[in-house]
Amino acid sequence: MKRTNFICTKCKKSFPIEQVYPRCDICNEPLEVEKVTKGKINEGNILKQTMLERYADFFPFDKADKDISLSEGVTPLVGSPKLASELNIKNILFKNESQNPTWSFKDRGTVVGVQHAISLGYKCIGTVSTGNMAVSVAAYGAKAGLTTFILVRADLPPEKINPIAIYHPILIKVDGDYGKLYFHSLEIGRQNDIYFINSDVPFRVEGCKTIAFEICEQMNFEVPDYVVVPTSSGGNIRGILKGFEEFKLSGLISKVPKMICAQARGCSPIYNAYIKNEATISRVETPHTIAQAIANPYPPSGNEVLRKIKDNGGIIVAVTDEEILQAQKRLAKEGIFGQPASAVPLAAVKKLKKENILNENDTVVCIVTGSGLKSTAALEKHDLKVLNCKLEDLNRLIGNKL
Ligand SMILES: *Cc1c(COP(=O)(O)O)cnc(C)c1O
Ligand SMILES: [Zn+2]
Repeated sequence: MKRTNFICTKCKKSFPIEQVYPRCDICNEPLEVEKVTKGKINEGNILKQTMLERYADFFPFDKADKDISLSEGVTPLVGSPKLASELNIKNILFKNESQNPTWSFKDRGTVVGVQHAISLGYKCIGTVSTGNMAVSVAAYGAKAGLTTFILVRADLPPEKINPIAIYHPILIKVDGDYGKLYFHSLEIGRQNDIYFINSDVPFRVEGCKTIAFEICEQMNFEVPDYVVVPTSSGGNIRGILKGFEEFKLSGLISKVPKMICAQARGCSPIYNAYIKNEATISRVETPHTIAQAIANPYPPSGNEVLRKIKDNGGIIVAVTDEEILQAQKRLAKEGIFGQPASAVPLAAVKKLKKENILNENDTVVCIVTGSGLKSTAALEKHDLKVLNCKLEDLNRLIGNKL
C-alpha cells in the first residue's frame, strides 16, 4: 500500500490504512481515505485497461490485481436532447450503471474492497445486503477465490435469493433486527478476520469515485452543473463527490459540480433531517417505497451526506412512488430500463425544475444506478400493453397502426 491514512469524516482523527473497521472510535462516524491531490490519468487503451489501472494514482494500492476484475465501470454516458427540451434544461445525460458485470454500480466499490482485502492478506470477505450489493460481492468473491459470507434478511423471496446463490457464496438468512446487522457484521468481521465490504465502507466509497472520473473524461473535462444520485446508505454520493474533488485538486477540472441527493419520500431520513435543519438523521420507523434499493431507514453515512451537501452547495430532495414510476416509464422511452431507485434522479430533476431550483442553462447528469431487470415486481405497477391477433388478421392490424 502507498503511504496514506484514513481520516474521520467528522473529527478528522487519522487511522492506519491497514485497518478494516470503517468507523471512528471516538465519534462513530464513517472514515474516508485521505484525498489524493496530485493524480493523473493513465492514458492507455481503455479496452485493455481495468478501472483500477487507468486511475491507479487515485488509489493507494501498489499494484492493481488484474485477475480480480470483471471489467467493471467504463459505462456509457447517454445524452437525451428530447428530454432536455421537454424539461426545458440545457442538457440531461444518463450514466448507465446497469452495464456493469452484475448490473449495478456496486461492482465499482466491490472490486476496490476486494483489492484492499487481498492486499491485507484476507481470505474471507462478506457483506450485508438484500439486493445488488449481495450479488456483486458474491460474484467478485467467486472470481477472486475468497470465502464469501453473504448475510441477508430472513424474509428475502427466492427471486432475490437465487441470483445471489448462483455464485455459491456462504449465504445466510439472518432472523433478527436487520437494521442492527450492519454494525453487528462489522464486529463479527473484526473477531473472525472477515473483511465486510458493506454499503459505505471507505474502500467501497473509493470505488465510486470512478463514476466521477469517467463523467469528467466523457464530457471532455467540462463538468456538469449538477449530478443527481439516488441515495440510501450514502456511500455512492460520497464517492462521486470525492472523485470530483480529487480531480479538481489534481488540476484536471476547474470546478466541482453540485450534488443532488435524491431519496424516495417513503424512506427519506437524510431529506427529513435536511428540511428540519438538523445535523443528524433520525431512523425512519416504517419505510415504504417501490424503490427498495434506496430504502435504508438509518443510513450509516447519513450525517456525513448532510455535512458534505452543505459544504458543496448541493440539494437534497425526495420524490413519491408515483413520480418514481412515471420517471421509470419516461426513462424507458429513452431506451434505458433502470430499476425504480435508478429512476429517482429523473423524477428529482423534473420536480426541481418545476420549483425553479434548476434552470434552463443547467447541464445535469443522472446516475442510473442499476438495471430494471433486478426489480421485475415493479413492472406490475405499469400499465404495459400487448396486442393479440390471429395470423390472418395480422396485416390488417398492422395497417391500422400505421
Ligand atoms: C445501492 C444502491 C443505491 C444506493 O446507494 P448508496 O451508496 O447506498 O447510497 C441506489 N441504487 C441502486 C440500484 C443501488 O443498488
Ligand atoms: Zn471522529
